[in-house]
Amino acid sequence: MSHLIHIEPSGHQLHAEADESVLDAALRQGLALPYGCRNGACRSCKGRVLEGEVHYPGGVPKSLTSLDAAQGFALLCTAHAASNLRIEVEEIDSEHDIVVRNLPCRVMQKRELAHDVIGLELMLPASERLQYLPGQYVDVLLRDGRRRAFSVANAARDDDRLELQIRRVPGGTFSEYVFHHLKERALLRLRGPLGSFYLRKQDHRPVILMAGGTGFAPIKAIVEGALADGFPGKMHLYWGVRGRRDLYMHDLASAWAAEHDGLEYTPVLSEPLPNEKWSGRRGFVHEALLEDFADLSPFSVYLSGPPIMVAAGRESFIARGLDAARFHSDSFDYAYETGHDVA
Ligand SMILES: Cc1cc2nc3c(=O)[nH]c(=O)nc-3n(C[C@H](O)[C@H](O)[C@H](O)COP(=O)(O)OP(=O)(O)OC[C@H]3O[C@@H](n4cnc5c(N)ncnc54)[C@H](O)[C@@H]3O)c2cc1C
Repeated sequence: MSHLIHIEPSGHQLHAEADESVLDAALRQGLALPYGCRNGACRSCKGRVLEGEVHYPGGVPKSLTSLDAAQGFALLCTAHAASNLRIEVEEIDSEHDIVVRNLPCRVMQKRELAHDVIGLELMLPASERLQYLPGQYVDVLLRDGRRRAFSVANAARDDDRLELQIRRVPGGTFSEYVFHHLKERALLRLRGPLGSFYLRKQDHRPVILMAGGTGFAPIKAIVEGALADGFPGKMHLYWGVRGRRDLYMHDLASAWAAEHDGLEYTPVLSEPLPNEKWSGRRGFVHEALLEDFADLSPFSVYLSGPPIMVAAGRESFIARGLDAARFHSDSFDYAYETGHDVA
C-alpha cells in the first residue's frame, strides 16, 4: 500500500511504498532530500513529521535521540511511512546544502573508452553514499597529498557507484598511473562532491550544453539526471573532439536525441582523420554553436572541457547576447589550480 507524502516548505508531493524509506521514495521521484550514510547513523536526513506516523522496520536508529522523537523528528533514510504524511525538510537545490566528505572507494571496472580515455566504475563502501548534484566533481586524493579533479560521469541515482572518465595526460602523475598500473579491485580515496557545475532546475530557459573532450563526463551526468527527472524543456548538446574515434559515447548521445523530442545532439570534429569519412560538422565546437544561434539571449549555457575552450565560449557567447549569469562552466584546469591541501 502506498502513502502520500507532502513536503514543506517546497509543497512537493510524492508517493511512498510500504517497502521503501521516505528518502528512497523521494529520490526515486526526483526530489533531492539531504542524506549522508543512508543507514540512520549520520543524521543528515533528519526531518520533522508534522502530520502522520512513521515506523522503522529495522528498529529505531540509535542516533535518533528521545528528544528528537519527542520533537517529531525522524531519520528519513530509514523511516517508512505508516500513514499519509506531512513532513518538513529542506530540499537540496545548491551545492552549499551538501556535506563534502572524504570517502574510500573500490575500482570495480576499468575499461578503455577511447585510445586516450579510460572509464572507471567506482563503488563506495556498503555503509556509505555520496550525495551530489549531477555535474559536480570529486578530487582523487593521491598518497603524497596532492589531488586530481575528475567529474562524476553518472547521475546521482545509483549513488553507490560512481563513473569517472579519465583522459591520459602525457607525463601526468595520476592519469598515467590509471592507464598503466591501476588494477580492478584497487582502492582510491575521494573528496567530494565539489563544484557548482549542475543544472539550475528553477531556470526554465532552453539549455545549451557544450562539451570538449572528456568535458562530456559532467554533461553526461547532467543529461542523465535531467532525463530521469522528466526534464520538460529543450536541450541542445554540442560535443567537440578532434576525430571520430574521440566521440567515445556517440551512440549514447545519439540515442538520447532519438528517444527524447526536446533533446538535440550535434557532434563537431576539429581534425577528423582522412580514413574517418566524417560527413558531420567540422571546426571548433563553439564556432559551430555560434553558426547555429544568432542570438543566445533566450538560453542558459553549460560548458565543460579544456580551459581554452571554456574561455573562448564564455567570451563569444556573451558577445552573442548570452546573460553572463546564465553561463555555467567547468574549466578542466590542471592540478595546480585545484589545490594541494588535503584535509
Ligand atoms: C573541476 C575539474 C573537473 C575535471 N574533470 C575531468 C574529467 O572528468 N576527466 C578528465 O580527463 N579530466 C578532468 N579534469 C582535468 C584533470 O583534473 C587534469 O587533467 C589532471 O591534472 C590530470 O592529472 P594527472 O596527474 O594525470 O596530470 P598532472 O600530473 O596534473 O599533469 C602533468 C602536466 O601535464 C599538463 N596537464 C595536466 N592536465 C592537463 C590537461 N587536462 N590538458 C593538458 N595538459 C595537462 C600540465 O602541464 C601538468 O603540469 C578536471 C579538472 C577540473 C578542475
